[in-house]
Amino acid sequence: MQVDETLIRNVVQQVITRLGANGSAAPAATVVGGGHRGRHGLFSCVDEAVAAANEAFDRLSERTLEDRRRIIAHIRRISIDQCVELGTMEMEETQIGRLAHKIEKLKTLGERSPGVEFMRSEVFSGDHGLAVIEHAPFGVIGTITPVTHSLPTITGNAVSMIAGGNTLVINPHPNGRRVAAEGVRRFNEAIHRDLGIDNLICLITEPTLETAEAIFKHRGVALLCVTGGPGVARAAMQQAKRAIVAGPGNPPVVVDETAELDRAARCIIQGAAYDNNLLCIAEKQVFVVEQVFDAMMAAMELAGAVRLNASEIDALTKVAIDTVGEGQKKHQVPHRDFLGKDAAVLARGIGKGIPSNVELLFGETDESNPFVPVEQMMPFIPFVRARDVDHAIDMAYRSEHGFRHTAMIHSNNVRHMTRMGKRMDTTLFVKNGASMAGLGLGGEGYLSFSIATPTGEGPTTPLTFTRERRCSMIDDLRILGK
Ligand code: NAD
Repeated sequence: MQVDETLIRNVVQQVITRLGANGSAAPAATVVGGGHRGRHGLFSCVDEAVAAANEAFDRLSERTLEDRRRIIAHIRRISIDQCVELGTMEMEETQIGRLAHKIEKLKTLGERSPGVEFMRSEVFSGDHGLAVIEHAPFGVIGTITPVTHSLPTITGNAVSMIAGGNTLVINPHPNGRRVAAEGVRRFNEAIHRDLGIDNLICLITEPTLETAEAIFKHRGVALLCVTGGPGVARAAMQQAKRAIVAGPGNPPVVVDETAELDRAARCIIQGAAYDNNLLCIAEKQVFVVEQVFDAMMAAMELAGAVRLNASEIDALTKVAIDTVGEGQKKHQVPHRDFLGKDAAVLARGIGKGIPSNVELLFGETDESNPFVPVEQMMPFIPFVRARDVDHAIDMAYRSEHGFRHTAMIHSNNVRHMTRMGKRMDTTLFVKNGASMAGLGLGGEGYLSFSIATPTGEGPTTPLTFTRERRCSMIDDLRILGK
């Protein structure tokens, strides 16, 4: 994809200026025809946002499935056609990840998020007539989105939630709020112009923990969908209303003695280096059986990753991993200066010069190195030597912390694959591919950027955001037999 950076920077600057110097995206509250029309989804007050989303829900409920398709077509079109401008804006605001991937994620979510085509009904037909099971909306969904993919998550959530007949009130991550607001404004404006419904997607322009809490507790919010790390996952699961929780991961990879090492190396680099390792599904640590360990390290170098030696890894660990909290709450986290940064920035942090096009750093550590248990979200991957495949699977299991999110194996031994699959018990388990292949990107299946892990819904679709309703006809309308 060709990117004219100067042009994009100018456009982004104009948009930021329009949004206000502090980026608060305060909307010019043109109230057209009363209610909240003309706000295009932007609100500073949770009560107002929820009221507007409920009004929009009532209006959406009067419309056809074909109208839902048309609404979603606008979201898809804007995400695809404006991916360069909006992706650049996301990169400039968040300062994490890689520009080409920020752009690509918006385009991919626009193209592939599950929409109305995923809606279906089921029927029981028998001697006593018919029972039809249909999938009804919940209403307004309180939605929390991460900084790692601010607007892409909103695109995916909006497509699937509206396909299910719902509307949204979003509390975006504060560090991705401006691009979130601009995307939401564009989506609503286009939908309003074409279909006359505004505020299907409402967003809090100055999000805080308090506004998140207000959304969690609001009587006008019917369901929660939270995408983020351990803190927000815990907070959502403590609420009185139902929450669909797309929580954190720390995906391990096992490489056994039967693996195709060159293929494994290419897959690990593809998955782990994508957007500088920000994906929740991305390869975070690798356990390789002793027999092929040295050959695997060579394969990684051959595939373009740069190997750090033991003292370089020690130095990187000191600068890139922080310890936070006190007593029982003490734990390690990625340092913000390195989270989502380029491999060259990590290398510079330890005084090492590498070409700017290097995508991934890697090196040998033991299981106790913090890069193994910490969800580092940066392009350095630790490789740990295992005695055999069972030892590798044991370490992989421990490193995943029971998140039950994602795991990978490179192997040609189906017994090893089966043992690891059973032990890990993860939502996604990818064999002989890069992590994104588990979301239909290079593998089979469909895409979602909200993979509900602790609450068990898996990669979300429109049906995830619906309630079952049954409609029974007694003794009639079965047109078969007697
Ligand atoms: P984060 O947890 O810091 O923030 C996520 C969102 O939750 C933000 O909007 C933030 O403002 C909000 N938040 C944080 N603590 C909160 C609390 N106590 N109450 C209410 N809201 C709160 O995560 P992040 O850095 O933005 O994103 C990365 C994390 O998200 C990683 O752990 C990653 O694995 C996870 N993630 C998971 C999925 C998935 O599909 N399972 C997808 C993307 C990201």
